[in-house]
Amino acid sequence: MAQVRKTEEEWKKTLSPEAYRILREKGTEQAFTGRHLENKKSGMYTCAGCGSALFSSGRKFNSGTGWPSFSQATGDSVTTKPDTDHLMRRTEVLCSKCGGHLGHVFDDGPAPAGKRYCINSLALGFQEKKEPIKGKPGKSSGP
Ligand code: FE
Repeated sequence: MAQVRKTEEEWKKTLSPEAYRILREKGTEQAFTGRHLENKKSGMYTCAGCGSALFSSGRKFNSGTGWPSFSQATGDSVTTKPDTDHLMRRTEVLCSKCGGHLGHVFDDGPAPAGKRYCINSLALGFQEKKEPIKGKPGKSSGP
C-alpha cells in the first residue's frame, strides 16, 4: 500500500527527468551507466522518490548484468507485481511506500533465496554508514 501519494505533476517537480522516467514511467536505465553499480561502500540504498530504506549494501552483489543487484530487500520495503510489458513475463519491483518503479526481480540470484533484485541506479539514493573512528581514547571534548 503506497503511503506517499503525489500527483504526477508533483513528482515531476521533485524528481530529475531521468529519475521520473524510471520511477513513474517504468523506464530502464542503460546497463553499466548507473552511479551505484560499482559502489562498494557500506550503507543503505534508499528510494530516490521517497527516501524509504530499501536495500542494504550487505545484500548487494555483482551480477554482471550492468545494474545494481541485490539478493534481498529490507523488510517489507518493496512490493512486487507481474509485468508482461515488452512481451516478457517479469516481476516488477516497486517501492512499498511511494509505489515508484525500481526494477525487476528474477529467480537466478545467489543461494539460499535465489533472488536477484535488478534495480535501476536512478531509482536509488545511498546513505553511507560511517564507521566509528578508531583511535586512542582521548579526553572527550565538550562544549
Ligand atoms: Fe519510494
